[in-house]
Amino acid sequence: MTYVVPFPEAPSLDVVGEGGRFPVRRIFCVGRNYAAHAREMGKDPDREPPFFFMKPAEAIVPSGAKLPYPPFTRDLHHEIELVAAIGREGAEIAESAALDYVYGYAVGIDLTCRDLQAEAKKMGRPWEVAKGFDRSAPCGAVQPASAIGHPASGPIWLRVGDEPKQSGDLAELIWPVPALISILSRTFRLLPGDLIFTGTPAGVGPLARGDRVTGGVEGVGTVEIEIV
Ligand code: MN
Repeated sequence: MTYVVPFPEAPSLDVVGEGGRFPVRRIFCVGRNYAAHAREMGKDPDREPPFFFMKPAEAIVPSGAKLPYPPFTRDLHHEIELVAAIGREGAEIAESAALDYVYGYAVGIDLTCRDLQAEAKKMGRPWEVAKGFDRSAPCGAVQPASAIGHPASGPIWLRVGDEPKQSGDLAELIWPVPALISILSRTFRLLPGDLIFTGTPAGVGPLARGDRVTGGVEGVGTVEIEIV
């Protein structure tokens, strides 16, 4: 293929135990997928079907990155999330077959400009500037499902410095990974390289310059960033 403009290589993630890397195509994110977080955002978790938004692939940054505090927000928030990495193409995927499409799992942080998001909600505008800005998706290494299986329970946590901020359990996901894949694949033909950020447990909160942020999912891995 010859392109008429320089075209950057796909962003990619480390894969634990493999020489190759996981290429990132699209980043789908799920809103309010843990009941306690839905309540902290002022919503009734029993009433809503899942909803999705996206970040561009270029939002990916590897674990260990030092991230400058974005100059366009005054309320940058952390949201720790289990990330499912899609390895096979498929549309209209049945829930019972959905896990066959998952290559592996990682731990990501859905960085959010809460002030811009609140303004967008109030004005009925899209969330992109609040959710999809550059470097808004720190993500750790992918663990192949062939090595760790498909985690459906286990602690998910985040701390800022030494202080615990978020904790939950994958068993509390309102829409678990197979349901998310099935529902998403009715609208989008899923492709290898797609990531699904599956939602965050309660305890989201602001970050400041100098914060060292560490999060993890038991059996999957960790992610770390520093805000500078
Ligand atoms: Mn999120």
